[in-house]
Amino acid sequence: MDRIKPLFKDYQALVKRVDVHIAGIQKIFPDRIACKKGCDRCCRSLTLLPVEAFSLSYAHGRLPEDIKAKIGLNLEKAGCPLLIDRECVLYPFRPIICRTHGYPIYMEKRGRRLIDFCPDNFKDVASFPKETLLHLDQLNTLLTAINRQFIGAIETDPPLLDRIPISEAIFILSH
Ligand code: SF4
Repeated sequence: MDRIKPLFKDYQALVKRVDVHIAGIQKIFPDRIACKKGCDRCCRSLTLLPVEAFSLSYAHGRLPEDIKAKIGLNLEKAGCPLLIDRECVLYPFRPIICRTHGYPIYMEKRGRRLIDFCPDNFKDVASFPKETLLHLDQLNTLLTAINRQFIGAIETDPPLLDRIPISEAIFILSH
């Protein structure tokens, strides 16, 4: 199991960069962010790239048995199985999409420039300083490259799905 840990280095570096970016936004808008423990508004059933799936599974493997049992009961339900009593039981290890939800995401769709964020946040904020915008395409390009490198470093038979449902991802290392 521990031979896989070094393979997360680049992914963890990207997670760190994202967290630093989010911390910067929290500093600029300290009283405009509603995100807090117990809010599960942006939690949903996700599909993950293999590098995020393995990273989450690695963390899942280290959870206490009683928490794993509760997650097991959630598997039949809709939504994310890691959400227990409206709290994420793997919060420190949550995927990048969960870290960026709620914050200003910049994207271009059909030639239109869009900024998406949780409507509970940034009320009455007329515009966002450029440095607070997370460019979705740039982030996805980085994550896809790290994922390709990760897949290249691990041999799996059968080959991995391009995207893995979170309900399967958490068990990928225990197979
Ligand atoms: S991984 Fe955690 S933060 Fe992400 S959707 Fe699931 S419960 Fe929510």
